[in-house]
Amino acid sequence: MVTMRSYKIAEFGGSVSETIQEIPEPTGTEVLVKVTHAGVCHSDLHIADGYYDLGSGARMTLGDRGIKLPHTMGHEVLGTVVKAGPDAGEVPIGAARLLHPWIGCMECSECQRGRENHCAKPQSLGVFRDGGYAEYTIVPHPKFLVDVEGIDPAVATPYACSGVTVFSALKKALPVGDDEWLVIMGCGGLGLGAVSISKALNVKNVVACDINDAKLEAAMAGGASRTVNLSAGDALDQLRDLTGGGPRAVVDTVGAEATSSVGIASLVKGGRYVIVGLFGGELRVPLPSIPLRAVSILGSYTGNLAELKELIQLVKDGKVKSIPVATRPLAEVDQTLNDLRDGKIVGRVVLTN
Ligand SMILES: [Zn+2]
Ligand SMILES: [Zn+2]
Repeated sequence: MVTMRSYKIAEFGGSVSETIQEIPEPTGTEVLVKVTHAGVCHSDLHIADGYYDLGSGARMTLGDRGIKLPHTMGHEVLGTVVKAGPDAGEVPIGAARLLHPWIGCMECSECQRGRENHCAKPQSLGVFRDGGYAEYTIVPHPKFLVDVEGIDPAVATPYACSGVTVFSALKKALPVGDDEWLVIMGCGGLGLGAVSISKALNVKNVVACDINDAKLEAAMAGGASRTVNLSAGDALDQLRDLTGGGPRAVVDTVGAEATSSVGIASLVKGGRYVIVGLFGGELRVPLPSIPLRAVSILGSYTGNLAELKELIQLVKDGKVKSIPVATRPLAEVDQTLNDLRDGKIVGRVVLTN
């Protein structure tokens, strides 16, 4: 048996531990990839915990959503193409490729239209199928291999989740005129990515919000015009003042009661609020205020393959400033998840193998 190391969760709420297993064999259209880089994302904490907080004490469990244990997480994955199944066609063996993780059933109408991130039977890498916290992983089809030649692989890796997630959210939030403002809630991996990608999309005025001053500084370095520390009691007034009456759009990369209540209240009439963060809780908004203020409240989940390719082209064109990326050995995955939970990581940690 030819074996590999993988890092698995055996039970929800438990830690990630090293496992020795057989290297999977690609069948059909599958492609085997030797993982060289795997980004550690905040949503891994929700997967490891095994639930989302729905507010008022309610939970949505991930076991009910179809996540089977033991499970190898890791959905921001870059690696070397090793081998393919007999039906995969031409595959660039030996080439480095970023893996598009937001994979669907490949058969339903949403998948056929290229919106696999909206598939009702998701097969996302590192979420519903084993991912990149391992020496090798499998993608079901070569179309999910994205060419990132010329980009530092550690920098390219987080574009597969944090990058494409905020890119897709920004597409829903824009346009924001040169005399208007965009607010980014949260300055973790997603939020910092949203700041830099919004600049690549020519948004002039960006306010970054967080409760951590080090993260706010990183947002300024990434191109934010102003910042607001949400722990201030007058954060809503500050946002309205800074933006001359309120932002045209907000991208909420936290998705907590504290961010959404301030963010939605701050919008100008006709403004758009896009929620991508999964922190949890519930939203209470007076219904008449939605039509009277003509605000839109939208959800955005990851992004599709076309959006990832569009984003990678922007990066290749030199338009996207990288968020801070640090590398650590793959074996430090559990410690890295703990550091992320404790809010100790600015930007992204990418594990290398
Ligand atoms: Zn992610
Ligand atoms: Zn589908």
